[in-house]
Amino acid sequence: MHTATVSRSLILSMLLLYSWGDEILAGEYVELRQKMVQTIEELVQDTSIYIDKEELDPRVMQAMGKVPRHEFVPETIKPLAYLDRPLPIGQGQTISQPYIVALMTDLMRPHPKQRVLELGTGSGYQAAVLAELTDQVFTIEIIDKLGEQAADRFQRLGYDNVTARVGDGYYGWEEHAPFDAILVTAAASHIPPPLLKQLKPGGRMVIPVGGRFQVQQLVLVEKNKEGKITTHQILPVRFVPLTGEH
Ligand code: SAM
Repeated sequence: MHTATVSRSLILSMLLLYSWGDEILAGEYVELRQKMVQTIEELVQDTSIYIDKEELDPRVMQAMGKVPRHEFVPETIKPLAYLDRPLPIGQGQTISQPYIVALMTDLMRPHPKQRVLELGTGSGYQAAVLAELTDQVFTIEIIDKLGEQAADRFQRLGYDNVTARVGDGYYGWEEHAPFDAILVTAAASHIPPPLLKQLKPGGRMVIPVGGRFQVQQLVLVEKNKEGKITTHQILPVRFVPLTGEH
């Protein structure tokens, strides 16, 4: 962790939080977002031994530098939106750490022609990052209120290539399958078989696997052209659990 960068961002965020009575200028968010991107680049270097690369796809980093993360967090913590950490979004849920959002997006190897499924819409931030990089994004959230708020955000911010619904993502979205890539943003005890089925041959899934009180691993799942599945553990992570009836 690069302490100097983190503390500079933290001080700037705290100053903005302190002066929250006055309107924060769009330019200040741009500056914080650029700092967030630098922090991600440094963390990628620090974790290169795990992720086996020194930098992420520049298109992914461009998307991270473009999506207005402050629009995806509650009003009261907007000035903290660009810290590289998860933040509360209500209903006991979180918006994921920007470094993890960037890494998961990079691992699915995004390109414009893809149809992508995300499970765990939450704030809608990860779906918005995907929407900058691919044609069609489908996202499912199990908590009504979060799903509805995210759908409003997609509309307000013009993310019209995102289709959102409320439901249990464990079962995927059969109607729109198969998917080129699937991202799961809540930790599952196992890889849901319906998602494996809905992944295209040649497709990639990124999913945190492990229980709430266990060390979870971010897992890359690949389905080759013949339908054979291989899995690869990337690095330890901490996500809220995938809930639902399964
Ligand atoms: N991707 C989100 C974002 O960008 O803000 C963050 C996701 S948060 C870490 C995990 C989300 O998964 C929570 O909003 C939670 O309600 C949702 N979730 C948990 N179990 C689910 C399920 N079975 N189906 C769909 N969503 C689920």
